[in-house]
Amino acid sequence: MNQLKKRVYQANILLPMYNLVIGTQGNVSGIDRKRNIIYIKPSGVPYEKMKISDIVGIDLDGNVVEGTLKPSVDWVHHAFIYRNMPEIGGVVHTHSVYATAFAAAGICVPCFTTGQADVFGSEIPVTEYVDNKSNNIGKVILKYRRAGCPAIILGKHGVFTFDSTPEKALFAAQMTEYFSKINLLAIILATSTRKKIRPLPVSEIKKWYERYHGKGYGQK
Ligand SMILES: [Zn+2]
Repeated sequence: MNQLKKRVYQANILLPMYNLVIGTQGNVSGIDRKRNIIYIKPSGVPYEKMKISDIVGIDLDGNVVEGTLKPSVDWVHHAFIYRNMPEIGGVVHTHSVYATAFAAAGICVPCFTTGQADVFGSEIPVTEYVDNKSNNIGKVILKYRRAGCPAIILGKHGVFTFDSTPEKALFAAQMTEYFSKINLLAIILATSTRKKIRPLPVSEIKKWYERYHGKGYGQK
């Protein structure tokens, strides 16, 4: 059994369990850099019916090299990210509710809390709107992404996350939704009480991020 294919399958079926997708609108991929094969969700297959063997293997130009189904229509954006970000090993795309509310409004997810500073080290940037033709989505992600932040809010659309593994990209998608929810509630609370709400100072964000990503955090 191909381990990466299995991991990509598992990450995909976690999307609905983590409440990150409605219907079939979301996908996870992972890349085998030695063989240059991207494993990705098949197009339009419901998560509850999906089998490991349904995961499609494609090359960087989208040719199916493993499996019998068609890849997700979003393969183009995943492949663009892998071609242009050599450090990336996993990509997730969702239209999760709270993060997509920020996408609809064209507002970044500000870094209001230490938890977000830990994981993302900044606001989660929002891009301008682009259509899904050619490499428009991939190009706008490259243009707006911030160093160290594995997530981006795609204007009027949803979320893309990218990290060294499919599991880490999935975690970033989960955290993007979590902080979007917190921040939306914080903005509503502040507005209703006429309070000014500000992000953490950049120097404080840096401190939390470095601690979380440094050697001292977690178990050996
Ligand atoms: Zn989409």
